[in-house]
Amino acid sequence: MRNRIFNTLFLQKLSEADDPIYRTRLTILSWAYLSTALCFVHCMILVGIFGEIQANSLAFIPFMVLHVALFYLLVYKEWLIPLAHVKILMLLVPILLNLFLMQDRTLMMLDIASVFNILIFSLIILSQRWTIFYFVCSIIPICLGYFFYDNNQFHALFYGYAAGDYVFVSVMAYLFAMAFISLLWIKNAFMKSFSRLSGLSGLLIKQRSNLLVQSKELERTNRDLENQRLAEQKAREVAEMANRAKSTFLATMSHEIRTPLNGVLGMAGLLKETTLDEEQREFTDIICTSGESLLNVINDILDFSRLESGDVEIDPHDFNLRSSIEDVLDLFSRQASKKGIDLLYQLPDGIPSHLWADGMRLKQVLMNLVNNAIKFTSQGEVFVDIEVAAKEGKDWRLTFKVKDSGIGIPADKISRLFKSFSQVDASTTRKYGGTGLGLAICHHLVTLMEGEIGVESNEGKGSMFYFTLPMKASKAGILNEVPKSDNRVLKGKKVLIVDDNLTNLKILRLQLENLSMKPYSASSADAALKILEKENGIDLVVTDMDMPEKNGLQLAKEIKSTFHNKAILLLSSIGDQSKKTNPGLFTSVLNKPVKYTHLIQALHVAVHGTSGISPSSNRPEKKLETHFSDKYPLSILVAEDTPINQKLILMILQRLGYQPEFVHNGLEALRKVSDKKFDLVLMDVQMPEMDGLQATREIRSQQVENAPLIIAMTAGAMEEDKQRCFAAGMDGYISKPLEIDKLKEVLKKSSSTIPQKA
Ligand code: ADP
Repeated sequence: MRNRIFNTLFLQKLSEADDPIYRTRLTILSWAYLSTALCFVHCMILVGIFGEIQANSLAFIPFMVLHVALFYLLVYKEWLIPLAHVKILMLLVPILLNLFLMQDRTLMMLDIASVFNILIFSLIILSQRWTIFYFVCSIIPICLGYFFYDNNQFHALFYGYAAGDYVFVSVMAYLFAMAFISLLWIKNAFMKSFSRLSGLSGLLIKQRSNLLVQSKELERTNRDLENQRLAEQKAREVAEMANRAKSTFLATMSHEIRTPLNGVLGMAGLLKETTLDEEQREFTDIICTSGESLLNVINDILDFSRLESGDVEIDPHDFNLRSSIEDVLDLFSRQASKKGIDLLYQLPDGIPSHLWADGMRLKQVLMNLVNNAIKFTSQGEVFVDIEVAAKEGKDWRLTFKVKDSGIGIPADKISRLFKSFSQVDASTTRKYGGTGLGLAICHHLVTLMEGEIGVESNEGKGSMFYFTLPMKASKAGILNEVPKSDNRVLKGKKVLIVDDNLTNLKILRLQLENLSMKPYSASSADAALKILEKENGIDLVVTDMDMPEKNGLQLAKEIKSTFHNKAILLLSSIGDQSKKTNPGLFTSVLNKPVKYTHLIQALHVAVHGTSGISPSSNRPEKKLETHFSDKYPLSILVAEDTPINQKLILMILQRLGYQPEFVHNGLEALRKVSDKKFDLVLMDVQMPEMDGLQATREIRSQQVENAPLIIAMTAGAMEEDKQRCFAAGMDGYISKPLEIDKLKEVLKKSSSTIPQKA
């Protein structure tokens, strides 16, 4: 409370942030009230000292109390405007009293002092209209008084007291002092406001000049940014050019490597078809596998560069999940069996057999992971486990896990694995080879297919690479691979499964249960024999070949001697000759990884009691049969400029029974085709004089009757190469190095198309 009074009365204590003029108005008015109250006290004291106190002199007291009360209201309620009116009216009252009652010229002195105060208060606190109004109200009595008042009429009032003169002078002094101090304060307040304003305007000027500087800087930054943008555009153009140059270089390099490789692999393939001794066959095999490895490296590099430049698009289609997985595992079965590794897979029941996704890319990722798993595993198993991560209506999310029991990966190296060109360490590369691109390609592909890829590993114990992909149930719906009705004969049959590999035991058990059979498991030959002794009526035994202590063959022999007519099915590595060397011992021999459909067929054979047809033939297939051309007759023209390749393709085609004709470039091909009718032209793309694309365009534009089918035969392996061939009017495409199977496929297809064309 004290603070508030103090702050109101003493300007210098007021907060700087407050409006100084408002505060000064408040202070002036509060001093006006307070000084009037003090003036009354002062007058009381004077009356007390210089004259006897009379009854009417006590009238000062209520006036004093009234002023203190008004002062209080002003300080605490801040009713500035109403209280200013009250104060002015209070000053106006004695003036009006003088006008109407006393009409004393001497009292006009007081009136003048009051007018000063009225003017000051109304000027600084009230509006202009009020100021004029109060000024007129107060000045008129003074003007009138000047002409009409008498002197010394106030004697009756003031000289009733002994202290009359003193009181009169004191009141005057208070009024003038108040007017004077008010003027001083208000002047100070204005000065303060003014200096604050000029400070502000100085600040504004400074800010304006700062803004000017900033805007100049902004302009400069803008210019810099524009320059940077232009530089970036230029850099982008350069980078795009470099990228195009890189792609062209890669395409050329790939072409240049593929062409001689075509010779190497093709000739080695032909060499394998001839009679060779053991050593020569081994050398030829090495040439073939080395060539294929080189081809894989080139394919990896090409794939990676296309993925990096965003040229790869996902092409979803219907595919059979089980066959895709089995196809991939088939590729590695020989390698796995050579290393003595079990290669297994499990597909849970209920997943639609046909799915809609990019099955080719899925196979590519699986191939990379299985390849690595086998490469880095020397014993144990490689297990491809498929799980359902989520399912909603037709949308499936499958997790593919490739688990191995190999060397594993140190924890600190795991984060780098999916980056390009990263291998765990240099010694790994030296020992196992590889480009360090496989996992980066997998990562790119899985991300493109909107999936996730990851790895968990225990150094020395093995790794698990996994990826999750979204897929849709195929439009063809859920197709049963094997009609359930066909499996009625298997229902309830008791099967004993024998395998030291517990994962395989589990998988087989699930597969057999799925066929409504009753499986019993044994993890060794001896355990199997015990079960056979105990359990009556076991219909069939499925045994693995490679087991410690007693292998599948020994077990089968013991079973045959003790239990006679038990059907036995052997699971073995590719190329196993057990069935051949032990006729009658096994109903079937199945290659691992066992294909589900093959297993079912073999079970049927075993249960029906008929032995014989093995579902998978292990006989190495001879690829070049001379009667092939009898089945698929064609007149063939080959346009090829490289002599080695000419020789190679001639030899392959001759061995298939064809008599092809040869030309060395597109121009010759064009002439030849117009002279003579051919069913098929195998057209190299890059040739001197006229390339294959141009030649095809010319042939197509001539609209020759019975125009030949034209199949590109090129070392350009990029997707664009393929598209260019089709755009030129070719009917098909085979890439170099030539694969005999693919060529045969093309010949077969062409031969079946010819009669329709004719
Ligand atoms: P590379 O062609 O060298 O195999 P990848 O990208 O496929 O290239 O693999 C990169 C590296 O990751 C390999 O060199 C190897 O060190 C490690 N790696 C990949 N798979 C496995 C695995 N299953 N077990 C152990 N290490 C692995």
